[in-house]
Amino acid sequence: MSYNVTLIMGDGIGPEIAKVTQKVIDATGVKINWEEVEAGIDVMAKEGTPLPEKTLASCRKNKVALKAPVTTPVGTGFRSVNVALRQQLGLYACVRPCRSYEGVRSKYENIDLVIVRENTEDLYAGIEFEKGKPETQKLINTIKELGGKNIKDDSGISIKPISVTGTEKIVDYAFQYAKANKRKKVSAIHKANIMKFTDGLFLATARAVAKKYPEIEFNDVIVDNMSMQLVQKPELYDVLVLPNLYGDILSDLCAGLVGGLGVAPGANIGENGMAVFEATHGSAPKYKGLNKVNPCALILSGMLMLRHLGELKAADKLEKAIMSVIKSGKDVTYDMKPDRNDPTAVGTKEMGEAIIKELAKI
Ligand code: NAD
Repeated sequence: MSYNVTLIMGDGIGPEIAKVTQKVIDATGVKINWEEVEAGIDVMAKEGTPLPEKTLASCRKNKVALKAPVTTPVGTGFRSVNVALRQQLGLYACVRPCRSYEGVRSKYENIDLVIVRENTEDLYAGIEFEKGKPETQKLINTIKELGGKNIKDDSGISIKPISVTGTEKIVDYAFQYAKANKRKKVSAIHKANIMKFTDGLFLATARAVAKKYPEIEFNDVIVDNMSMQLVQKPELYDVLVLPNLYGDILSDLCAGLVGGLGVAPGANIGENGMAVFEATHGSAPKYKGLNKVNPCALILSGMLMLRHLGELKAADKLEKAIMSVIKSGKDVTYDMKPDRNDPTAVGTKEMGEAIIKELAKI
């Protein structure tokens, strides 16, 4: 059996970690026909867009993509490749497992949390009105007329839509994920006490969906309280389901609990098997071309991809190999050494090779 997978090379450190990840995944023995495509600021110079149509077409055709990070161009009118990709491909769920690996320096042990973040709505829907524009003034006037609320004339405005359909889909996905992965509890995170018509709707909808899954425990927590609890007693939580903005912020918090962005993978899930796997971290432009950064987050994203493809044995093997290299602390990149200037730190490629060697032993 072989699989067609789109490999989005990205920019900054993207191409380096993509190449290493590709080699490591090939070494698991799963046959993948990689279709390499571009996205980001490097291709923007050639094609006038950081997200060329052929990149999208390849994702649509193959349904499964592994994506290296891309830089968000500043001041080009193009908001974000990542947001555009999610919207164009209908990737409504972002799943970020956060798991402690022995050998990764962290203040916490035995963390095993999964963030399920809604990916298309909320303040990230891209509905924004710039300060001083006539349409912004019109909106300010309309809001005053409709609700009697004053907004200062020199305001910028971002709109926060949250729908019943969007919330049903994401919460249902969180429960399905919990069932499929033998997780025990789903927690809905919100600020319904303040934003009654958006977060309140999210909470009411989540409660209704939870009734369909009596075998899985459900609770809800206000996002500020959750931030504190995650730092104080993360062991109380299992799968967290969140609207887009809180999901973005708590994903990084949870990545911090397990030792940082170097080991934080992610999956963006859509309808009918469509999925794009990517690391939580960005393109780290200052390290571009230096063979320095940690490839593990993208390799772990590849491991999630293997699970999605049904290659569970290969995924387990790959996770074990990564864990073993990290645990030994020898062939690891600078960010995994106790002293970041440790001269024994290896490069991106060398860490990939060490994982391949471990794979051969398992
Ligand atoms: P970043 O994740 O690129 O970097 C944050 C810090 O982590 C930096 O110190 C960086 O050097 C370090 N770092 C990141 N990845 C690392 C790795 N694999 N190994 C070791 N250290 C690593 O975040 P940023 O600097 O805020 O963003 C840079 C660009 O990436 C921005 O344009 C941003 O929009 C974009 N970005 C893209 C994605 C994505 O493609 N999914 C995600 C986040 C940010």
